[in-house]
Amino acid sequence: MTAILETERLIFGYPSRRTAASSEPVIKALDDVSLAVEPGRVLGIVGESGSGKSTLLRTIVGLNGSGYTGSVRFRGQTVDHSASKASLAPFRAAVQMIFQDPGGSLNPFKTIRHTLSAALDSVPATAPMTDRLAALLDRVGMNETALDRRPSEFSGGQLQRLAIARALASNPSVLLCDEPTSALDVSIQAQILGLFAALKHEGSAFVFVTHNLGVLGHVADTIAVMFRGRVVEVGPAREIINNPQQPYTAALIAASPRLKNRGALMENARRRLGLVTTAAEART
Ligand code: ADP
Ligand code: MG
Repeated sequence: MTAILETERLIFGYPSRRTAASSEPVIKALDDVSLAVEPGRVLGIVGESGSGKSTLLRTIVGLNGSGYTGSVRFRGQTVDHSASKASLAPFRAAVQMIFQDPGGSLNPFKTIRHTLSAALDSVPATAPMTDRLAALLDRVGMNETALDRRPSEFSGGQLQRLAIARALASNPSVLLCDEPTSALDVSIQAQILGLFAALKHEGSAFVFVTHNLGVLGHVADTIAVMFRGRVVEVGPAREIINNPQQPYTAALIAASPRLKNRGALMENARRRLGLVTTAAEART
């Protein structure tokens, strides 16, 4: 299957305050990142805090401008992040971001009706707005009773559903999710992951960023492991979790409370990496 979204050799650095006027290198937040995701698939990105995960998503959508090298391709076309707002609009509508803090994409002073209607307004449709609002809320497991309330009246899990609804309003084909469940209680996390699974079933592609590899074991088809701006390991999710090739990945697995049998997995990983000698190996 052909990729819907790809990055090719993406390199991006934040200008550091100290070096802005000098020729010192900037902080390299992305270092040669080439990844791809296909329709209906979930690309999971895992790595510790500061490894460049958010930078990757922000660079893809254009929040970091056009000051990167390499390319972002959407449906086979290179995205020009320096292009006009109007010419980028179709890309912006098709590739939506979901953040850890769902409040961030919902205006605290506006009703949900206002926020969702505004998001739906930019999309041509024939159905009446009330029907479209009801259909949108239904997709995220909520209903019209949410419409005349403001964000402060909802729980974290409900807010994340509403933020996802806002993102879905433009019928995106790719959702870039930055730690979308990290701020939620474990039981609510499972509900939101279930919602993503349903959306995936509808054909959406996902790039799902988390520092918790355990979450990815449930949702990702492919996992890319990032460390200091680089992709250090990428492969089918099951292989990455059951048989990591990099010590860094094995350490992430050991640190994931939600992965079952992680002791055994870790032992297996360590053995393959030659970090320990088992009794059986010692006899040979
Ligand atoms: P992650 O999402 O994996 O925690 P980030 O993409 O946020 O990692 O950060 C990657 C690197 O870029 C880190 O070294 C971080 O300190 C740096 N960084 C992130 N945002 C900025 C910024 N706005 N300005 C300067 N440096 C930043
Ligand atoms: Mg981040």
